[in-house]
Amino acid sequence: MTTPGNEIVCTVCGADTLVVRQPIYEGFTRVGDAFTCAACGHRYEQEDQVPFKTRAAGPAVFDESDRSPEPNVFASDEHKRLCRYCAHYVVNPFTQWCHVHRREVEATDTCDRFEPRDEAAGEC
Ligand SMILES: [Zn+2]
Repeated sequence: MTTPGNEIVCTVCGADTLVVRQPIYEGFTRVGDAFTCAACGHRYEQEDQVPFKTRAAGPAVFDESDRSPEPNVFASDEHKRLCRYCAHYVVNPFTQWCHVHRREVEATDTCDRFEPRDEAAGEC
């Protein structure tokens, strides 16, 4: 397994290599991990003895931060920032009106004063 974060520079053989992590079991209980240099086979007894490369550069949180590309809700709703979806938009048989700008608007207009209409409040 070559997951990120198991790159080491071995303190014994000096190799720029990987550490092999193997769980240690006592019976069925996992009591820890064994760390072995993939190059020379030196076994590190404790994880904090393993000369990880990523530890020097910073906390090994790469997996966590890379994995959370929060969907940009704002961008995905961009097409809904139209006057027809706006709380200030009023439509009657004769005109479409914006309460903020006090002028006629088109349903497909957009502006920086857009406020999403509360759908639950009804059409008015
Ligand atoms: Zn080694």
